[in-house]
Amino acid sequence: MTDRRGFLKSTMAGTAGLIIGSSATKTFGEDSGLIEVSPADAQPTRITNDVDVLVVGGGTAGTIAAIQAGRAGASTLIVERDSLLGGTITTGGVSFPGLFDAWGEQIIAGIGWELVRDCVLLDGGSFPDFSDFPGSDRHWRNQLRINPFLYSLMAEEKCEQAGVEIAYYEFPLSVTATDSGWHVNCVGFGTQRTVNCKQIVDCTGGAEVVAMAGYSRLRESEIQPGTHNYQLDTATNPGRSRLNGGFAYVCDADSSNSRTLTATNLKGRKALLARVRSGNHRLMHMQPEVSVRETYRIDGETVITVDDYLSGHYFEDSICNAYYPVDLHRCGSSIYKKYHTDGAFPKIPLSALVPKSSTNIIVAGRSVSSDRLANSGLRVQASCMAMGQAAGAAAALAADRDTTPLSLPIDDIRTLLQEHDAIIPVDPNAMS
Ligand SMILES: Cc1cc2nc3c(=O)[nH]c(=O)nc-3n(C[C@H](O)[C@H](O)[C@H](O)COP(=O)(O)OP(=O)(O)OC[C@H]3O[C@@H](n4cnc5c(N)ncnc54)[C@H](O)[C@@H]3O)c2cc1C
Repeated sequence: MTDRRGFLKSTMAGTAGLIIGSSATKTFGEDSGLIEVSPADAQPTRITNDVDVLVVGGGTAGTIAAIQAGRAGASTLIVERDSLLGGTITTGGVSFPGLFDAWGEQIIAGIGWELVRDCVLLDGGSFPDFSDFPGSDRHWRNQLRINPFLYSLMAEEKCEQAGVEIAYYEFPLSVTATDSGWHVNCVGFGTQRTVNCKQIVDCTGGAEVVAMAGYSRLRESEIQPGTHNYQLDTATNPGRSRLNGGFAYVCDADSSNSRTLTATNLKGRKALLARVRSGNHRLMHMQPEVSVRETYRIDGETVITVDDYLSGHYFEDSICNAYYPVDLHRCGSSIYKKYHTDGAFPKIPLSALVPKSSTNIIVAGRSVSSDRLANSGLRVQASCMAMGQAAGAAAALAADRDTTPLSLPIDDIRTLLQEHDAIIPVDPNAMS
C-alpha cells in the first residue's frame, strides 16, 4: 500500500516521465505513431437518418417505447443526452420500479415488465408475491429492487435486438413539421445529425420536443423537490437495498434545461459535501445526477384529473393501467398522500399522451397530460413503462399507415400491444 507521501512522489515522477516522453515522440516523427490532425477534422460530422420513429429521451419510458416500436417493425432511432439508458432508474439511482400490481393482481406487464423481470432473474434477485396485496398505504412493499447497472446493459441489448439505433450524447436543436412527419436537427459533440422521421415519441420527462414543435405545456410555480441519491459509510448493494441518501431533498430541483439542471446538481452536491464533513461520514457512492420529480406536463387532448385517477375512471381510449397513490413531495413538510377507493386503479387514455391539436407526436412518461395531483402518482416507473410501450406501439402503427396516432382505430393499437404481452384496461361496461 502506498501512503500519501509515496503517492505524491510516484505521481510526480510519472508526470515528469510523460513530459519527457511527449517531447521525445515529437522528435522521432513517424516511428511514434503521431499523426497530424488538420483543424478541418474537428468540424462535426454530418449524418442523416431517415426513420419511421424517433424517440427522444432514453429513460424509463423512452427505452420501452423504442423497443416496442422496433419490435413492431418500425425503423427506430433513440436520441439520449446522457451516456446510458434508463434515465431516473439508472442515472438518478431510483432503481425500485413500482407498481406492476394492484389489489392482488398484476395490472402492468409487457416490455417494461420483461426488462425488469429479466434483470432481476440475471441478478439473482427476488420478486414480490403480487397476489399478496400489502394494502394501499403499504404499496411500496411490492416495488421491485433492480440492479441499475445491469438494467442499463440489458436495455441496450434489448434495443439492439429490436433493431433500435442508439445515439448518446445528443439532443434535438430544432424540430420542423414536414408533409410526411418531422425534420429534426440534433447535435452532440463531433456530430450534427439530421433526422427525417414520420413520428416523434417525446420521452424527455419534461416534453421538451413538444415545446420545440410549438405545443404548449403546463407547470406549477412550485415544483416538487428532487433527491440526490448517494451512499454514506456502508458499501452499496445494488438490486438488494436502496441508496441511503434517499430523503436528501434538493428543493426547486429543475431539469428544464442545462442551466437549471447544472444548478440543481451543484446544490445537491454541495449539500452532500457538507453532510460528509459535518457527520464525519465516508462517501461510498454518488449518482451522477440529482433525480428530478417534476417539471412540465403536456396540455393534452385529454387531461387526467385527480378524480379520474383515484376513482379508476375508464376512458373510451384507455390504453394502459397505472397504480400508485397520490404522492406529492414538498420541501419542509410531509408528503401529501391520497389513496384509491377500494379496488380502483387508474387507466391512461391514449389521448392523454397527445398534445392538443398536434399530429405525429406523442409523449410517454411523467409529462403525461394530467393535473398536478394525478401526475404525482402517474409519474412512477411501471406506469411510465406502460405509457412508453403504448406510445411506441401507436407511433409504429401510425408510421406504417402514414397517419397520426389518434386517427388509428384504438383496437388496432390494443391488439398490437397485446401481441407484445401488454395488459389492456378492461371496459367495466363490457364486463357486465
Ligand atoms: C427521487 C425520486 C424518487 C422516486 N421514487 C420512485 C419509486 O419509488 N418508484 C417508482 O416507480 N418511481 C419513483 N419515482 C418516479 C420515477 O422514477 C420517474 O417519475 C420516472 O422514472 C420518470 O420517467 P420518464 O421516462 O418520464 O423520465 P426519465 O426516466 O427521467 O427519462 C428522461 C430521459 O430523457 C433524457 N432527456 C431529457 N431531455 C433530453 C433531450 N432534450 N434530449 C435527449 N435526451 C433527453 C434524460 O437524460 C433521461 O434519460 C421517483 C422519482 C424521483 C425523482
